Amino acid sequence: MHRDTLAVRTALPPSQWGENSEALFLTSGFVQPDSETMAHRFANPQEGYTYGRTSNPTVSSFEQRLAAMEGTEAAIGTATGMAAILLLCMGVLKAGDHVVCSRSVFGSTMNLFAKEFGKFGVQSTFVSQTELQEWKAAMRPNTKLLFAETPTNPLTDVCDIRALADLAHGAGALLTVDNCFCSPALQRPTELGADLIIHSGTKYLDGQGRVMAGAICGPSKWIVDVFAPIVRTAGMTLSPFNAWVVLKGLETLGIRMQAQSANALAIARFLESHPAVKRVYYPGLESHPQHALAMRQQSGVGGAVLSFDVRGNDPDALRRNAFAVIDSSEVMSIATNLGDTKTIITHPATTSHGRLTEEQRQAAGIGQGLIRLAVGLEHVEDIKTDLSRGLDKL
Ligand SMILES: *Cc1c(COP(=O)(O)O)cnc(C)c1O
Repeated sequence: MHRDTLAVRTALPPSQWGENSEALFLTSGFVQPDSETMAHRFANPQEGYTYGRTSNPTVSSFEQRLAAMEGTEAAIGTATGMAAILLLCMGVLKAGDHVVCSRSVFGSTMNLFAKEFGKFGVQSTFVSQTELQEWKAAMRPNTKLLFAETPTNPLTDVCDIRALADLAHGAGALLTVDNCFCSPALQRPTELGADLIIHSGTKYLDGQGRVMAGAICGPSKWIVDVFAPIVRTAGMTLSPFNAWVVLKGLETLGIRMQAQSANALAIARFLESHPAVKRVYYPGLESHPQHALAMRQQSGVGGAVLSFDVRGNDPDALRRNAFAVIDSSEVMSIATNLGDTKTIITHPATTSHGRLTEEQRQAAGIGQGLIRLAVGLEHVEDIKTDLSRGLDKL
C-alpha cells in the first residue's frame, strides 16, 4: 500500500467493540489469563502485554504506523526526542567508543554526546555539516556511530545522507539520522542508507504542539533485540496518552508537511525580495547552497522551517531590527518550538543559541540579525502581512 494509506490505516486490530479510531489504552498493568501465560509473556515481551514500562497496545500502534511510514522493520517509542537519543547512546555505545557528529545538530544532542556520555568514556568529534572531508578525517578505528540531522536548525544546512552512510559502513560504524525536520512525509533516511532514524514526535509527528514524544526507527535486530530491553530496564517509555495523540497526528502528517512547506516556500520567496532582508536560508530556494541535494533527498520539498537575516550595521542594530520584526507580529507566536500548525517566530542568537559566546555564534553563522520561522497552516497572506508589519519599518 501507499504511504498515505499506511499513515491512516496501520495499527493493531480494533478491540471487540470495533472502534474505527484507534483506542487509547490508559492502563499501567495488564491482567493475565493464567500463570503459565504470564510467565511466558515475562520471558517473551513481544508476545503479550504485562506492564506499561515494557509495552502498551496504543504505543505499539504508534510504533507500527511510524515504522510503516519510514519503511523500517520496526520502531520504538520514547518519552521525548532526547530520550530516543539517550536510548540510542545506551544501545550502541560503550566506554572507549567514538562518535562523529555534525556540529550543527540540536544543542542538547551535542551536550548528550560530549558532556553526559563523555563522563562514561565516550569520545565525540564534531564536524562540518556539509564538508564530507571533515567527516572522513575524523574517523578513528573505534568510531561506532556517525550522527547527523538534516536540514539543520536554524540555518537549514543539508548533508548528503548517502555519502555519510557509505563512509560509516566502510568503517564498520552506524549512521543515525535525526529526521525531525522533514519527517517521513518528505525524507526517508533508511532508503538512502542510514541504519537508524531518530524522531522527536513533539514536532511534526504530533504537529499541533500538544505532547512530548520520541522514537527510534530501524531494523528489528536493533529495535527489538537491543533497544526494547533497555527501555524495559531504564524506563524512557512513551506514555500511552502521548502515543495516542501522535498516532492520530500521523494520519495528517503528509498533507500538513506539504501545505506547511508550500507556505514556507512562498514566504521564503517573499522575504528574498524584501529590501530589509539580507539573506534567506531555505532548502527550497534555488539560492540555497545544497538546493539540488535537498530536492533529491526531501521529495522535492524544502520543509517548513526557514531563517533569514535582517539588515543592520552592527550586532546591536541587527538585534534591534530583529526584535522589531519579531515584536511587530500579531499572528505568529513568539516561541522556540517548531512543528506546529501555528507559525512560530524566534530569535536563535538569544534563545536556542543564547549560551554560546558571540564568537562561537559568528563561527556558526548565527548572527544577531537572524530570525527563524517554523511556518504553520495559517493563510500565507496573513503571515506575509505579519512579517511586513515589522520589516517595512526597518
Ligand atoms: C526538538 C528536537 C529534538 C528533541 O526532541 P524533544 O522531543 O524536545 O526531546 C531532537 N532533535 C531535533 C532536530 C529537534 O528539533
